[in-house]
This record gives sequence, C-alpha cells and structure tokens, in this order.
Amino acid sequence: MMNYVAKYWNSISNKHTECVLCPHHCIIAPGKSGKCRVRKNLDGRLISTVYGKLCSYAFDPIEKKPLYHYFPGKEILSLGSVGCNLRCAFCQNDTISQASAETFPRLYEVSPNDIVALALTRSNNIGVAYTYNEPVVWYEFMMDCAREVQKAGMKNVVVTNGYIAEAPLSELIQVADAFSVDLKGFSEEFYAEMTGSSLAPVLNSLLQIKASGKHLEVVNLVVPGKNDDPEVFSEMVKFIHDELGRETVLHINRYHPHFQMTDPATPVKTMIALQELAKKHLSNVYLGNMPWRK
Ligand code: SF4
Repeated sequence: MMNYVAKYWNSISNKHTECVLCPHHCIIAPGKSGKCRVRKNLDGRLISTVYGKLCSYAFDPIEKKPLYHYFPGKEILSLGSVGCNLRCAFCQNDTISQASAETFPRLYEVSPNDIVALALTRSNNIGVAYTYNEPVVWYEFMMDCAREVQKAGMKNVVVTNGYIAEAPLSELIQVADAFSVDLKGFSEEFYAEMTGSSLAPVLNSLLQIKASGKHLEVVNLVVPGKNDDPEVFSEMVKFIHDELGRETVLHINRYHPHFQMTDPATPVKTMIALQELAKKHLSNVYLGNMPWRK
C-alpha cells in the first residue's frame, strides 16, 4: 500500500515538519517519526505509515469497548492498528501501542470499503469501533472508514485517550456516534509521570465531546499508589458530575501488572470503596476487569 500523506501538519525550515494532530506538536526531522512512532517525515512531507494497516479486527460485544449504555447486547466490528501518542507505564496493550509499522510482525492491509463490507456481514453488528490501540494516531484511516460507515447507515464508535487537538476532534465528531474516553487520572503530575502527556487537553476533549451531544462514557483505570487517592478521585468525580452530567457513565477499571509496572493488582476493597464514593455523585458507575462484580 502506498504511503499516505497525513493531515494536520505544517512545513517548517530544513524539511522539518510539525505535526499538530495531538497536543505533543512533534517537530520531526526528515526520516524520523513522531512520539507515536507511526507518523513519519518522508523528505519533508508527513505521512501515516499505518494507513489501512490493522494489527487485528474482530466482532466484539459493544460492552467490551466499554460502552454499557449504547446499544446493549449488540456487536461492533472492532479495528486496531499499532502506535500510541502516550506511553503509560501501566499500558494493558503495550505489544501494539509501543510498536510501529516497521516492528510489528504482521499487519493486515484493508481499505475502507473492505471494512464496510465486513461490517455488513453480521445482522447483530451496529457498525465499527476504532479501538485496541489509540486510533488518533491512525486518524486518516479512521476518518476514511468512518465516512463510509456513516454513508452505509451504521455507527462509528471511538475508543480513545482523548489526547487530540481541537480541530481534528471537531472533524471526527462529525462522523462519530459514540466515544469511550480514558480519563487516566486527575492531576498533571500523574499524567506527566505515568503517561508522558498532560491532563488539560484530555479535559478539553471531554468538554468538546459533551458539547457535541454525542454519546460519551468515561473510563478510569485505578493504579494502586498512583491515582487511588480518594481526594483526587473525588475531584475527578466532581468534574464528571459538574461538567459532563450526573448520568455520565463511569467505568472504574482494575489495574493488573503490565508493561513497565510489576506492582500487584489493585486491591478489590479499593475498587469497591471508589465505586461507592463515585456513586454518591454519579448515577451509572461500573467496575471493570472484575468480572464477578458490576
Ligand atoms: S500524533 Fe504522533 S506525530 Fe503527531 S503530534 Fe501526536 S505524537 Fe507527535
């Protein structure tokens, strides 16, 4: 498949490019890639190295995204590629998030029309979810698929960390129907130390999605000793209540050791205590990665 010229970048001097798709605003020299590893400067032009390249695709229950209040009981064709604009120490999908098109052993090549054709093969399927790795870093393919999926009368679901600039998110919102957004913590210190990014742009994305009226559910992975302080957690719940609404669905997910973290899984009693705390302010609070309890 041909190299695909990316969207949302500027030319700067000496054939360098500035990518403005996400708040990192990477300055990329010729032959180099941005922090996400999949947007590359090829002789002064920024290209997507993962356009039409998937690490996996599957029909998943919509609840697995997780979306609990959006077409429950239905399936969604779920697509994932490689790369990520964050580097979370606790990443649960590091084999794909930390890979690139050059390093991942096998990527399937597909077109937006292939995706629509596949999505239409199952009667219980409502559309396509952009998920598994961070879809913002394969923005161009996501957008091309989403336009075709919309034309075919199906739904587009975006599962994201919300670390995206305002203009591309605005364009994405035009074709997306539902979002599942990771709010990984509620302090700039946590975001800087644990994810290599920052909190403020994620909050802005949440507000932008809320203002659009598109369906929104929020996910928070609780990492012991990192983001389980009840006071900070309460501030996060207050933000969700005040800015996104009491009915906003919050999924509190249990951390298990992955990638760079070897600390034991989040204690169950911490999970239950945080759920009880969140329920005081929010109507729909679920525990995840704990299959025996909702
Ligand atoms: S999308 Fe990738 S290349 Fe672009 S600013 Fe973000 S991390 Fe950098």
